[in-house]
Amino acid sequence: MIVKARSSQALLLGAVALVAVISFAAVAVGATSGDSTSSASSAVAIDASASSLTDVEVEGIMFMREEEKLAYDVYMTFADLYGQPIFSNIASAEAQHMAAVLGLIEAYDLDDPVDDSPIGVFVNEDLQALYDDLIADGSVDLAAALEVGAVIEEVDILDLERFLDATTNPDIIQVYDNLLRGSENHLRAFVSQIEATGTDRVPALMDQRAYDEILASQMQRGGSSNLDHGHGEGECDETGEGEHGQGEHAQGQGMHGQGQGGQGGQGKHGRGQNGQNG
Ligand code: ZN
Ligand code: ZN
Repeated sequence: MIVKARSSQALLLGAVALVAVISFAAVAVGATSGDSTSSASSAVAIDASASSLTDVEVEGIMFMREEEKLAYDVYMTFADLYGQPIFSNIASAEAQHMAAVLGLIEAYDLDDPVDDSPIGVFVNEDLQALYDDLIADGSVDLAAALEVGAVIEEVDILDLERFLDATTNPDIIQVYDNLLRGSENHLRAFVSQIEATGTDRVPALMDQRAYDEILASQMQRGGSSNLDHGHGEGECDETGEGEHGQGEHAQGQGMHGQGQGGQGGQGKHGRGQNGQNG
């Protein structure tokens, strides 16, 4: 199993390097820059349009929408395959992450790349290839599937940090910070299950120190909601199982307050700190 996991990690390294490269390529987005007074823009009360976003911001939103879908699709597939609650519970959190990014898409009048796509279908070719590889890897056995889960969360964290570094837009920062917190919870949940079997997991992609920091921060999490701008849903109690679905991830919709919510109680998500990890 460990050997298998290593080889899939090598493959993923390639995949993620690709992902990083394409993020700097310009994408043609069918964004219409009209006025955004249309009340159809659902829950996100943002007065904005696509023209107020940079190319990289638009691309990040498009990409994260599909990356959250990738997580959702993979976990739903593994939930069917293995019947383990960790996959279905985290999948429901990913559905909320998808909805949070959709909120940005609607608020800024962008075209949704996901739309009605069924499970396992992606517009972005790199994400399509990554999905196919991950499903193949995780179909071997439950241990491999848990490792795939941990790898997805690492990818998610790294991409969110990268796109956070590329924006000063408070709406985007708020959504990505929430997603980042969720991903850290998910990473802890997967690693906790992997290591419950006696395996000592090493990070597939992340810097070891950043990885260790996330895993070690679970005890502090519970007290960090005082800065979470009033949502107050239950905190994850970190039993290592599937309780991660609801409490912390329910925030994507009702964004309010510009740029105040995302800093995180412990400063772990502070924007200024990202660069100091290396
Ligand atoms: Zn997510
Ligand atoms: Zn996740």
